[in-house]
Amino acid sequence: MNNLNLLNKNSINLDANASWGTSEEVWAELCEMQAALGSLNPSSIHQGGQRSRFLIEEARDSIKDLLSLKSADKLIFTSGATESNNTAIFSAMLGKKIKTAVVTSTIEHPSILEAAKKLALLDHKVVFVQPDSKGETSVDSILTNVNSETSILSLMLVNNETGIINPVSQIASNIQQQGISCLVHTDAVQALGKIPVSFMDLNVDLMSISGHKIGALAGVGALIVRDGLEIEPLLYGGPQEKRSRAGTENILGIVSFGIAAKILKKSLKERITKISQNREIFWRELRNKIPNILPNVDLSKTSPNTLSLFIEDVNTSDLVVALDLEGIYISSGAACASGKPGASHVLLGMGMSEERASQSIRISLKDSYPEEKLLEAAHKIISCIERIRG
Ligand code: PLP
Repeated sequence: MNNLNLLNKNSINLDANASWGTSEEVWAELCEMQAALGSLNPSSIHQGGQRSRFLIEEARDSIKDLLSLKSADKLIFTSGATESNNTAIFSAMLGKKIKTAVVTSTIEHPSILEAAKKLALLDHKVVFVQPDSKGETSVDSILTNVNSETSILSLMLVNNETGIINPVSQIASNIQQQGISCLVHTDAVQALGKIPVSFMDLNVDLMSISGHKIGALAGVGALIVRDGLEIEPLLYGGPQEKRSRAGTENILGIVSFGIAAKILKKSLKERITKISQNREIFWRELRNKIPNILPNVDLSKTSPNTLSLFIEDVNTSDLVVALDLEGIYISSGAACASGKPGASHVLLGMGMSEERASQSIRISLKDSYPEEKLLEAAHKIISCIERIRG
């Protein structure tokens, strides 16, 4: 318990893309439901089990509603988007007897990149498409690499470090129109809660989402599978999730995900407006007071809460550590096993030099901070940069 003293109550989380943090409303509802959340096995046929089953199905319906799923589309609960992404990639390949191809981009989350690299080691053909120097992936750059040999294309909807929004629905529609039978998967983890997301409009076959990026507990996610598509499970065992994902369900996590989805459905418009305003306030303050600071991408093409910034002559690690001491949480984009920040694989994957990437930071904002708190954080960033620059 003593370690809790290490948490700074006045800290400001400007690292919302790493985790939104469990929202107060979600905690409050979970506490109210405590008696019903006894974690009895939802596969048990007694009443206790059936209560758990009911709660899981209620959460599933709330998330399906948020994402405009058709009733026949499947939503498979997983342990998080890492598992959802791995399931999508490996499932597409497991179903095939011959070696086939995966197309993805160089700036995906490691749960796609590492899964794809594993397939390459197993002699599957894997194409990593590089976006342009602004982090944008064109429809053509993907389409020229997708053909009848391709089993799956996986392209994220919103990049976690730059916030760039990819033209996923356009690409998926083109693939469909050309009659190419490859599956289209999108990692929509960073899109949810920041831009409107409709599975139907995206026109994809598979989509990954994660609970802790929208205010639910960590350790729960989902893979959406379009109506009519059967996937090979990643985990074998019991018949849970209609035999698509074995293992006793994480009831507490799933219920928290359902609550967060219900809240988001009601507040999405407001949330988007607020995070856009917050970013504008924040960015105006930084660009007016800090010389030689530039966005790494075109901000009009990004999710409204994310700022990827190049700050000349300021080493990312020095700034992350200095701000941490001030109770301001930002990120370099990447966290290596040692816990020390390193250059972002996304910025490097866009073709940026190591030198420039190591002078870049990611700020990702929430909707919940009042203006004075945001300005306080901006001023701490400004004074840390002045100190580092000497
Ligand atoms: N995909 C993206 C784009 C992410 O940002 C993350 C988490 O940072 C993940 C996947 C993995 O999600 P989870 O933490 O639920 O495994």
